[in-house]
Amino acid sequence: MPIIDRERRLQEEGQRFCRSKSFYPLHCKHFQPSLKEIQSTLFSDFVRYTVLRQSEEGYDDDEEEAEAEEKKEMLTKKIHCANNPKIGYDYGLAKITLPKGYSNLKGIANDQTGRGPQWQSGSTLGDLVLPSPMTQFVRGIGGVYEFTFMDNKPTTVSEFREKADKYIERQLGKSMNEQDIDILERKFWKRLGPTMESSMYGADMDGTLFSKIDNIDFDWNLSKLQSCLQLLLMDQEDNDKKGGGAIPGVTTPYLYFGMWASVFCAHTEDMNLLSINYLHAGAPKVWYAVAAGEDSRRFEHLMESNYHHAKKDCPEYLRHKRSLVSPTILKKAGIPYTRTVQYPGDAIVTYPGSYHSGFNTGFNVAEATNFAVPEWIPYGRTAKVCNCRPDSVRLDVDRLETLLLQYENEVKQKKRLLWSDWVINVKKKRHQEKMTNATYKPSPPKKAKISGKDGTGNTNTSKPKNFWVEVMQPSFSKSKKAKSKKSKSKKKSRKSQVRLQELELWHLAKPVGRKPLRPSDRVLCIIPAVVERNNIGNDDNDNDAATAKTDGEECFAGQVVEDHNDHIRVRLDGMGKQDDIWVTKDSSKLFLDGGRWEEKEKDFKMPALHYWKEEDFSEN
Ligand SMILES: [Zn+2]
Repeated sequence: MPIIDRERRLQEEGQRFCRSKSFYPLHCKHFQPSLKEIQSTLFSDFVRYTVLRQSEEGYDDDEEEAEAEEKKEMLTKKIHCANNPKIGYDYGLAKITLPKGYSNLKGIANDQTGRGPQWQSGSTLGDLVLPSPMTQFVRGIGGVYEFTFMDNKPTTVSEFREKADKYIERQLGKSMNEQDIDILERKFWKRLGPTMESSMYGADMDGTLFSKIDNIDFDWNLSKLQSCLQLLLMDQEDNDKKGGGAIPGVTTPYLYFGMWASVFCAHTEDMNLLSINYLHAGAPKVWYAVAAGEDSRRFEHLMESNYHHAKKDCPEYLRHKRSLVSPTILKKAGIPYTRTVQYPGDAIVTYPGSYHSGFNTGFNVAEATNFAVPEWIPYGRTAKVCNCRPDSVRLDVDRLETLLLQYENEVKQKKRLLWSDWVINVKKKRHQEKMTNATYKPSPPKKAKISGKDGTGNTNTSKPKNFWVEVMQPSFSKSKKAKSKKSKSKKKSRKSQVRLQELELWHLAKPVGRKPLRPSDRVLCIIPAVVERNNIGNDDNDNDAATAKTDGEECFAGQVVEDHNDHIRVRLDGMGKQDDIWVTKDSSKLFLDGGRWEEKEKDFKMPALHYWKEEDFSEN
């Protein structure tokens, strides 16, 4: 068959296939709030009561307004949902087109073409440096692709745009009058593959194009979005300035400079957080998303069947953001997905736990950040973390939930108090109490320290000594192994993943000192853990009431398996690769393993036993 005929036939087949109703991409919800609305509504409230609400599974568009109002009121009263059944969200993402006046509020990047005077060299934006734009090398055919990235030398925005323009001209020809996004989309998927000249992407660059001028009544600014993650700042001591403080990479925005055919691979956000991506200027971005829940599980199975090699190395390989499948593959697998096009001035909000991917249709500039709302809690709790990198984002969901409950109890719901403002208030109060106590009460006497250990707990000023510490062991017995697997899937808390056993094992902990740690070095780490202390001789009792649980920090022995800048990766004894932990090399809770105490060695003189107590190690 001549190639032309064959192509035409395939195209027709494809079109017929797409027309069969169930395989049409879903159209996500599209919101167009007025300027007045965004000025009078907190972004987080808009996401909760409008965006997420209208994407709830089974939401009825024709629902009576009164009923919606009632529900909104109910939600306002009971703002946090950890005890309520998890609500599923359709579509995976939503589009919010910001009103005209928004650009006046957002600062310097008001020119949505990305080509006006303020984007030219010699201006702030044109001369902005992309520190390491990356080349995206693609492998794979037939709709299943795998990417590798290579960093390039720094380039300015205007230089990058020039490269982008030349690249798209080489790829699509000079007559670039192709405003028809459907044609561009088809061309993208048709050409994507190893024979295509690689595209470049300036991604994950710290920064914001929003004005940093304070405007308290307006938080639709990605650099100061209200997010309930701000409650976690409660535990940070040095962030009392002005609601300041940031969880790097999570609550601070990133900039993205795209060109034709640059992609973002299929992924969920770190910790299943929500994200917002605002397109400041340039060519549209095409998005695909798969809703969290059943659709996402099927998507994961589909990906697993295509990327089993990657999954073998890391169960969380999709977090590496290297895998991309075409919408045709999704259609063929019968996985419902959302497709939407983001134009300058549009924000895309991705929902907790939804997979999303996409590509850029030309030079463009976007800004994105993660955020959380209370509805995220159950999704955060089930999030898994990739262990390949030490800087994978980890958040203490239990702690955040406690803080949310505390916020609810203390804050009268009639007057909305910003999460960040509440944190400032509580910290202020805490500080005042501390000052009062300092004036009128003598400080409590320091606990007598056990011999064999440095008395100050300060490793810098005096030489710390060795001490004996009890080491936990994950349980091994066969009958229990099966059971612990089961309980692993039931219990979501990261702290209680492994059943631990007290075996009266004592190891000598030695300070790490100056000698660098190397792979295969034996170490002791003190980390949060839940220990089930079963009654002796009653090991098989699964009844929680009969099991004493201790929630705190315990010591584990393990071996260094990887060295990465200021972190080491430790494989704990008796645990698999998936339970590896990353520890900073200067952690006060990391020690060299001086070996086990053997009772047989009669002559061996053991120093006083020492049970691990956190206060002994806290920096004074
Ligand atoms: Zn990984």
